Amino acid sequence: MAEQKVLRTPSGDIACHLLDMDGVLVRGMTPIVRSAEYVQLLVDRSVPFMVFSNNSRFTPEVMADRLNSVGFQLDSSKIYTSALATAEFINLQKPNATCFPIGEEGLKQALQDQNLQYDDVAPDYVVVGESVDYSFQELTKSAQLVASGARFVGTNQDTSIPSESGAIPACGAVCALIEAATGVAPYFIGKPNPFMMRAALAKLGKDPSDTIMVGDRIDTDIMAGMELGLQTVLVLTGASAESSLGKYPYRPSLIVPSLYHLSVHMGFEADC
Ligand SMILES: [Mg+2]
Repeated sequence: MAEQKVLRTPSGDIACHLLDMDGVLVRGMTPIVRSAEYVQLLVDRSVPFMVFSNNSRFTPEVMADRLNSVGFQLDSSKIYTSALATAEFINLQKPNATCFPIGEEGLKQALQDQNLQYDDVAPDYVVVGESVDYSFQELTKSAQLVASGARFVGTNQDTSIPSESGAIPACGAVCALIEAATGVAPYFIGKPNPFMMRAALAKLGKDPSDTIMVGDRIDTDIMAGMELGLQTVLVLTGASAESSLGKYPYRPSLIVPSLYHLSVHMGFEADC
């Protein structure tokens, strides 16, 4: 018989959910079987939750539209990206800081929303986000500004992103280029930096002990959740296989074949 562990908060409520997006809700833009139904169960029961993505290309509004076009019914306020976390981080460190961003609308909008102004002459921060359209000119400018003393921040350390045509170099790889040119290492805000989860919990007004992190990667989602003191759930619909668990010194609290299988553990369904 399958393991049936009920994850509840210390007071007995259903735990607040932090849901990784890629590999948990969707793969690329293909929805994972019954994941939209599970999200709807959370909405119907007013369980607090947030959908997480390390991808800083898109605004939450665009991401919600993309998810809703494949069967979800999500409000953009439920989406938290590494771009939002990065803008929040910079605003906490230095309110009204100036930034030279390279990336796409998701990052630029997030910086603007935190009142962080664009500066390509002597910015406080060079901020590198995800893009499929980096220009050599921008990279050169970023490296020169970092060499001149701008603080160097990346939205996420992922070095590649899978796509239909093969892996695409990602933010971490582009930051590595600037690091090689300048000798200055970036500071990354997205997962597995627990800052991103702490910021989301603060938004939801929840404590780690009231929250579960659901992810498909042992070395980012599960590690960051564990370090923050959340219960962690590994789904087997993405990057990490159960067979790789032995390589890591930490384990998830629970392993389920897919997100929808959590409904048994939440007491939503008798069986799936
Ligand atoms: Mg993932």
